[in-house]
Amino acid sequence: MTKTKAYSAASATSPLVSTTIPRRDPTEGDVQIEILFCGICHSDLHYVRDEWHDVMPAVYPCVPGHEIVGRVTTVGSAVSKFKAGDLVGVGCMVDSDHTCPNCRAGLEQFCPNMVLTYGSPDRHKTAPVTYGGYSDSIVVDESFVLRIPANLGLAGTAPLHCAGITTYSPMRHWGVTTGKKVGVVGLGGLGHMGVKFAHAFGAHTVVFTTSPNKKEDALRLGADEVVVSRNADEMQKHAGSLDFILDCVAAEHDINAYINLLARDGNITLVGAPEKPLSVSAFSLIFGRRSLSGSPIGGIAETQEMLDFCGAHNITADVEVIPIQKINEAYERMAKSDVKYRFSIDMASLKSE
Ligand code: NAP
Ligand code: ZN
Repeated sequence: MTKTKAYSAASATSPLVSTTIPRRDPTEGDVQIEILFCGICHSDLHYVRDEWHDVMPAVYPCVPGHEIVGRVTTVGSAVSKFKAGDLVGVGCMVDSDHTCPNCRAGLEQFCPNMVLTYGSPDRHKTAPVTYGGYSDSIVVDESFVLRIPANLGLAGTAPLHCAGITTYSPMRHWGVTTGKKVGVVGLGGLGHMGVKFAHAFGAHTVVFTTSPNKKEDALRLGADEVVVSRNADEMQKHAGSLDFILDCVAAEHDINAYINLLARDGNITLVGAPEKPLSVSAFSLIFGRRSLSGSPIGGIAETQEMLDFCGAHNITADVEVIPIQKINEAYERMAKSDVKYRFSIDMASLKSE
C-alpha cells in the first residue's frame, strides 16, 4: 500500500481539502497511473453535496474525479496492453464482474457488480470505498484502462472519459446521423461535447440554452441553430420537428417543453441527472408516439471507439485548466452554469501540497 496526495470532502457541506489516501500496490493485472489531468463533472458536485442521496448516498470522506488522463508508471506481470510511459485514461468505472451478460456484451456500465471510480465498495479493501481522480495516482485493472490517441491535447482529452462517452453513446444508439435533426439541451460539459458529436455525425444540430451569452460559442462548437429556451416563440418554431434530443441539464426543468419539440417517433434521452424527479405529461408522449429514455456513460469498448473517433476528427473538450487549489471556486461556478465548457485540473498543482 502507498499513500498518495488527493483532495477530499468530509461531508455534504465541507469544501474539498488537501489530504492523503491509500492506493493498493498493483496486482498482476493492474496498471498504476500518475494522474496528469482530471476533468470536473457536475456528477462530482452532485455526489460531494449528497444531492443524489436517495439513489446513491455519498460516503465520506470522498475523493471525486472520473475524467482521468495520466502516464503509466508500473504494470503488473500479467498486463499485456500497457507499459510504463504510455498515456492512458480512466473514466467512471474501474471494475465489473467480467462475466455477466452485460459484461459479455461489452456493456459494463450495466453490470450489477460494476465498480465506480469513486464511492463504490473497494474490493481490494485498500479503503472502505474507491477514491477517484482528484489525486496524484490511481491503480486500475487493465481492462478498464483506455488508450489515448497521440494527437490529442491531454487537458481536453480528460473530459472525454465521461462527458465524451455519455453523449457519444446515446447518439450512436439512437442513430444520430446525416439527415437527422438533433437537439442538445444545456450547453455545459456534456452539452458542448454533444454538439461536437452531433455535428461530426452530420446531423442538423440545434442547441437549447438558458444562457443567451453562450449563443456565439454554440455556433462555433458546431450548432446549426441556437434557441434561447426561455423564449417561447423561439421554442415554438421547432415544435414537432426534432428526431432526437439529448437532455444534458443538471437541474430541475420542464421536460415537456422539449418532448413537444419531437417529431413522430422521436426520442428524448436524459443524460442529465437532476436531484429531484421530473414530471412528464403523458399526452406529450402519446401524441406523436414519442419516447423518453435515459443513458449512462458507455461500455469500455465504445469508450475506446469514441476516443479513437476523437483522435481521427481532432475532437477534445473546450477546457478551462485550473490548479487543484481552485477546486471549490470551480464548483461554485459550475453550479451557476458558468463554465466554458469543462474545468480540467492540472494535477502538477497537487505536487506542491
Ligand atoms: P454542467 O457543465 O454544469 O452543465 C449543465 C448545463 O445545464 C448548464 O451549463 C446549463 O446550460 C444547463 N442548466 C443548468 N441549470 C439549469 C436550469 N435550472 N434550467 C435549465 N438548464 C439548466 O454539467 P455536466 O457536467 O454537463 O452534467 C450535466 C448533467 O449530466 C448532470 O446532472 C450530471 O450529473 C449528469 N451526468 C450524467 C451522466 C450519465 O451517465 N448519464 C454522466 C455525466 C454527467 P445552459 O447555460 O446552456 O442552459
Ligand atoms: Zn461525469
